[in-house]
Amino acid sequence: MKSHVKAVVIGGGVVGCSVLYHLAKAGWTDIMLIERSELTSGSSWHAAGGFHTLNGDPNVAKLQAYTVQLYKEIEELSGQSCSLHLTGGVMMADTPERMDFLRLAHAKGRYLGMDTELITPSEAKAMFPLMDEKNFVGAMWDPVEGHLDPSGTTHAYAKAARKLGAEIVLRNRVVELTQEVDGTWNVVTEQGTVKAEHVVNCGGLWAREIGRMVGVELPVLAMEHMYLLTEPMPEVEEFNKSTGREMIGVLDFKGEIYTRQERNGILLGTYEKACKPWSPVSTPWDFGHELLQPDIDRIAPSLEIGFKHFPGIEKAGIKQIINGPFTFALDGNPLVGPVQGLTNFWCACAVMAGFSQGGGVGLALSNWMVHGDPGFDVWGMDVARFGEWATLRYTNAKVRENYSRRFSIRFPNEELPAARPAQTTPLYDTMLANNAVMGDSWGLETPLWFAPKGTEPKDIVSFHRSNDFGPIGEEVRATRDKVGVTEIANFAKYEVSGPAAEDFLNRLMTNRMPKTGRIVLTPMVNEFGKLIGDFTIAKTGEDRFMIWGSSAAQKYHMRWFEKHLPKDGSVRIHRFDQTLVGLSIAGPKSRDLLQKLVDVDVSTKAFRFMDFREMAVGGAPCMVNRITYTGDLGYEIWMAPAYQRLVYKAIKEAGEEFGLVDFGMRALLSMRLEKNFPTWFRELRPIYGPFEGSMDRFIKLEKNDFIGREAAAKEQAQGPKLRRVSFIVDAADADVMGDEPIWAKVGKDYGTVEKPHGYGAPRFDETGKEVRGSKAAEGASAVRGIVDGEWRVVGWVTSGGYAHYVQKSMAQGYVPAALAEDESAGLFEIEILGHRRPARINIEPPFDPSGEKMRT
Ligand SMILES: Cc1cc2nc3c(=O)[nH]c(=O)nc-3n(C[C@H](O)[C@H](O)[C@H](O)COP(=O)(O)OP(=O)(O)OC[C@H]3O[C@@H](n4cnc5c(N)ncnc54)[C@H](O)[C@@H]3O)c2cc1C
Repeated sequence: MKSHVKAVVIGGGVVGCSVLYHLAKAGWTDIMLIERSELTSGSSWHAAGGFHTLNGDPNVAKLQAYTVQLYKEIEELSGQSCSLHLTGGVMMADTPERMDFLRLAHAKGRYLGMDTELITPSEAKAMFPLMDEKNFVGAMWDPVEGHLDPSGTTHAYAKAARKLGAEIVLRNRVVELTQEVDGTWNVVTEQGTVKAEHVVNCGGLWAREIGRMVGVELPVLAMEHMYLLTEPMPEVEEFNKSTGREMIGVLDFKGEIYTRQERNGILLGTYEKACKPWSPVSTPWDFGHELLQPDIDRIAPSLEIGFKHFPGIEKAGIKQIINGPFTFALDGNPLVGPVQGLTNFWCACAVMAGFSQGGGVGLALSNWMVHGDPGFDVWGMDVARFGEWATLRYTNAKVRENYSRRFSIRFPNEELPAARPAQTTPLYDTMLANNAVMGDSWGLETPLWFAPKGTEPKDIVSFHRSNDFGPIGEEVRATRDKVGVTEIANFAKYEVSGPAAEDFLNRLMTNRMPKTGRIVLTPMVNEFGKLIGDFTIAKTGEDRFMIWGSSAAQKYHMRWFEKHLPKDGSVRIHRFDQTLVGLSIAGPKSRDLLQKLVDVDVSTKAFRFMDFREMAVGGAPCMVNRITYTGDLGYEIWMAPAYQRLVYKAIKEAGEEFGLVDFGMRALLSMRLEKNFPTWFRELRPIYGPFEGSMDRFIKLEKNDFIGREAAAKEQAQGPKLRRVSFIVDAADADVMGDEPIWAKVGKDYGTVEKPHGYGAPRFDETGKEVRGSKAAEGASAVRGIVDGEWRVVGWVTSGGYAHYVQKSMAQGYVPAALAEDESAGLFEIEILGHRRPARINIEPPFDPSGEKMRT
């Protein structure tokens, strides 16, 4: 065993071996994997070995597709077979709602380049004859699904990594991690200490324990999971013989089961409702190649439905029931990346689908470690996406909820109840008394909308417009016509101070910093000129700035800020989180309302648009920004939580004469739509350049040398390939939700545009015709110019909804730049729930296009 290496990877499951392979492939060969026992000694050895590409997050789907493609490569390099069976698979819908869900997934597949197909239950039965098709209303076929040998695959990664020069040390547990002042890690093992520049936690079932070695409580929990194997079945053998094919994989939402052929029999697994965490507080170090006691009663309800839906399986004898633990984060996606607050400590854990995701996780993490950037939009699996609120108990409740809903539909207006309320502001009870429907915003209870008095404050979940439609419309109209108040505690807030604060921010941000008492809006880009943040910044005093940004990105942004902080202490950064809360008032009467609450002049001249002032509001010391996300005349008022009730009460009392209403987050988002304002993590993400994101006016290339300036200048000089645009959609009773394909009937060539996500076609042959099929997963990622005037998918929706004041259904999304200024009707269609609806680009915001209202 070497005593000094560049990186130590802890854990020899499928994920650790993939990380090791990818690091070696990227050129880091001075690396070591340390495994407590033998390879696959955690959850990897008893996995069912299924893989698929479908994922709710298109960026994660892309990495899953990469994983599937990778198997051939590691087989060739290692000489070790993964026993790959690319059978294809179907998802079965038993209700119209589930069919809507499949239509949505299929539409998303259009721009991802997936070759999915909506098929009838009889067509599905022809590929899996053990089902009773009468139980289903439809299905979706995906050819890029299958299964493999988990142990063979893990060893293939390991052998390939070894061939590239990596070292693997077995039967040696890492017992302690300490860090020297210079950042070197001491990896203390049973066989001695290894010094390393980087440490990667691929501890799988023990990832939590390894996190604790460095003082971090990772939000990950193992769950028991069962699947059964039948005896050989004559029906299976007969099918194989008569068709020359293997039976496909089937996912049954209603039964919460997945099933497929395994040798001459069937494998059937469940995500049962009565799920059970395993070792909820700590994982025993002596847990080895062991299985857990099967508990057939727990999965009986799922099996009952399963046997009804697949009567062919019921007849078969059960050969074995496997019960094994594997890990989940709160939302079922992995925890990947550098851990905020530590240097060179990386995570690749909570990978619940190691054989669909392991390759992509390894690639993204190795890119990140070697090149400083994951190379993909990995927000959906970034370890920074959860806050301190994700404690052990919170994680336990959320993981159980997520597991038991693994095959449930999540409606776009559905808020999940587990572990709530977690964080609340002082106004929580008041908001409930006001009949607010609350939602979870990065662990904080936030009013979404206000149900009419006398009605139950509850969402009726749906893909269509629902019971919030009317009340949100009322909130928007009352705000735009008079004045409204809303809670904005769910923004991120930071203070940056110190003699070098301005230089620091100028180096990080694309816009110039404001003068004292003024505010600017500014994106932040990385070295590659991709958007990694979008902030409101006020200069609050000499060497002092306040920053507001996306709540969910707090750890993500802190990680970036800390990475770039000068080492000499000349800049300090403080994240407030919920120690600073806020209220926003907006609408034409908001100035009159504010004036009643303060003892200073807030007239147009004295308190201009984009001004910042500290003032007492309703008697409470506050910071006030003359700006709102509604795009109307309005103010954001920030205060310590102890004052929030006082300020709210004062606003309510003073607002009575102006017809003040409460409005929630959904009304706010509706109002931003009709102003064409983007949102972070939907329109603005690390896959887009600032000019693609149509943020041109906030990019001051000439101001100073900021991070990413060169790349941004290049983007501007070459012209962005894509552009963010707003659409008005001729919708019926459902609006876009995000990720819908944008179709265009284009009669001109608009060049070839790289798709930042999406992992396959639309591919084109030499004649310009679209090629689909199994080639879809082979990595083509371009939208090519069309010259034949046919309808084609040219872009994707990032978000949208109903803009209540202008009474239009709206969407934002990305299209090739050459199409972005064409406002003609009949050019675009957006697919909503399987129906293509006419859509028109709308360059000027439909509400107050000149911005006069917010400036007056
Ligand atoms: C019943 C069941 C069925 C499944 N079916 C599928 C499926 O069909 N498809 C799919 O994709 N996934 C499936 N999974 C999930 C899959 O098994 C996991 O996603 C995968 O194994 C995660 O791999 P890992 O490398 O992260 O963790 P693990 O396999 O748990 O590996 C972690 C390794 O780290 C080592 N380690 C931990 N701590 C230390 C230390 N301190 N020092 C040294 N070594 C250490 C452990 O010994 C272990 O070998 C299934 C899981 C189960 C239980």
